[in-house]
Amino acid sequence: MRRFFRHRLAGTVPAGALRIPTMKQELESRMDSTLPPNAAPADKAPIEADAVIVGAGPVGLFQVFELGLLEIKAHVIDSLAKVGGQCVELYPDKPIYDIPAVPVCTGQELTDNLLKQIEPFEPTFHLGQEVTVVERRDDGRFNVETSVGTRFITKTIFIAAGVGSFQPRTLKVDGIEKFEGSQVFYRVKDPNRFHGRNLVICGGGDSALDWALNLAGKAESIVLVHRREEFRAAPASVAKMKELCDNYEMQLLIGQVTGIEEKDDKLDHIKVTGADGVTRRLPLDDLLVFFGLSPKLGPIAEWGLDIERKQLKVVSTEKFETNVPGIFAVGDINTYPGKKKLILSGFHEAALAAFGAAPYIFPEKKIHMQYTTTSPKLHKILGVETPVFD
Ligand code: FAD
Repeated sequence: MRRFFRHRLAGTVPAGALRIPTMKQELESRMDSTLPPNAAPADKAPIEADAVIVGAGPVGLFQVFELGLLEIKAHVIDSLAKVGGQCVELYPDKPIYDIPAVPVCTGQELTDNLLKQIEPFEPTFHLGQEVTVVERRDDGRFNVETSVGTRFITKTIFIAAGVGSFQPRTLKVDGIEKFEGSQVFYRVKDPNRFHGRNLVICGGGDSALDWALNLAGKAESIVLVHRREEFRAAPASVAKMKELCDNYEMQLLIGQVTGIEEKDDKLDHIKVTGADGVTRRLPLDDLLVFFGLSPKLGPIAEWGLDIERKQLKVVSTEKFETNVPGIFAVGDINTYPGKKKLILSGFHEAALAAFGAAPYIFPEKKIHMQYTTTSPKLHKILGVETPVFD
């Protein structure tokens, strides 16, 4: 959460320029990723679209740009509550050196620049929701539906789903699933729910530390359980946590959860085995687990698309269209002979996929390739002045 703030504040893109949630809304949607602020109620009429992009990683974002140049407006859906895909989720601060003409930028900076670049095309973002349903309609278009019930009827779909949608890594202890959602949580929907409760929080990253610090003083008690002395979380958070422990406002226990005990159908104790081999029993009301996110192909496997080793096969590298006409696959999610999972490959694929999709949207129109440097039409689309050459 802290890292997220830092980058959004440092970013060069005014958040209001795009139809993405404000920082506050985005934060709230992080806390309640099943019902983000921009979620359409299930009974709302479907959104009619020319293009729906599944995935807001770098390739999904650049797909907006390439479609925009062809005057195709896009809706972008991501299961995460923020845009940027792997670049932001896995390596926001790491430098990338192989983006053409950008000698070096971090994952977050690349994302911020892509957002700036697509500003003229005003994409609509639907974050914190996974695309669950894709089905062809009788009229040749597609029904698309998300995990929170947002529905679309679209002429084309661009799957830019990378390595799949990121899901919380779960605690692997016998019998724990039974308490998921009642006493065991992998996300925080409503922080107030944990006030006055005896909490055990597992994990050593930013989420675990941020929630431990956030709930300290509000929960009845907090024990942070982490498997080793070193933490991945921001050093300032670790220092604050240690200060709270020194003041007896929370406790730190180094070890791993190895078992649970239930009483009257409730989770009553967890067992934590320490590095010393001793297993201790901890009483608790709720268990919050933050072991990070791992990608899963998920529902994409059920959309009738040709799949090879968890990737979508494209019919040709001319359009990057899948075996279902009108559905394109770009970026890390696709496979073809010679595929390299690089951001620059995804950018190229997005350009050709946009041209490949245009006939579905404008069947009457002849599509010409134009240069952004010299085309007055593209200048108009981009909202820039046409330069006067001598
Ligand atoms: P992703 O970035 O994976 O984004 C896909 C998005 O789709 C995700 O946000 C996911 O939540 C969403 N999604 C998936 N399924 C669904 C669904 N059903 N509904 C809704 N949303 C969904 N590449 C380089 O070129 N240069 C580098 O230096 C480099 N360094 C890297 C370093 C690391 C540590 C890692 C892990 C990767 C690196 N890469 C690098 C690879 C690069 O990050 C990927 O090639 C790139 O992120 C692919 O972009 P994408 O948009 O295709 O997919």
